[in-house]
Amino acid sequence: MALPMSKINDLLCRWAANDLPVINFTVNNVLKEIGLDYSFYDEVFSFLMRKDGYELIAKKMLLCPKKHPGKTFLLKEEVDEEEIFHCWCDEDYYYDPEQTIVVFCFSESFIKEEQLKKKSRSRCIHI
Ligand SMILES: [Zn+2]
Repeated sequence: MALPMSKINDLLCRWAANDLPVINFTVNNVLKEIGLDYSFYDEVFSFLMRKDGYELIAKKMLLCPKKHPGKTFLLKEEVDEEEIFHCWCDEDYYYDPEQTIVVFCFSESFIKEEQLKKKSRSRCIHI
């Protein structure tokens, strides 16, 4: 099966147009939402990465030792390895590249665009 690109794009538009746009989503979230199995992981990952700097902003998210989502940094951003992070579960931890996941957020301009599109769509329905 080929990568359903338009389905992924539709999903991203929908998520960005939410009253509270979806933030820090992962490749797994996209796979699950579209009903794709894990074999699409790499392809979806590179598809999303190509949008980095345009529709999306790719980030790395630190995880606490109990795998709770922690602070996010831009993918290329250097993280101070001496800095101690504190999780709500009371664990303290340092930056460890092995304990990070890649997450995506929408760029401001993409959110604006999609929110405007949604507004003009709902206007059409009311008329
Ligand atoms: Zn934690």
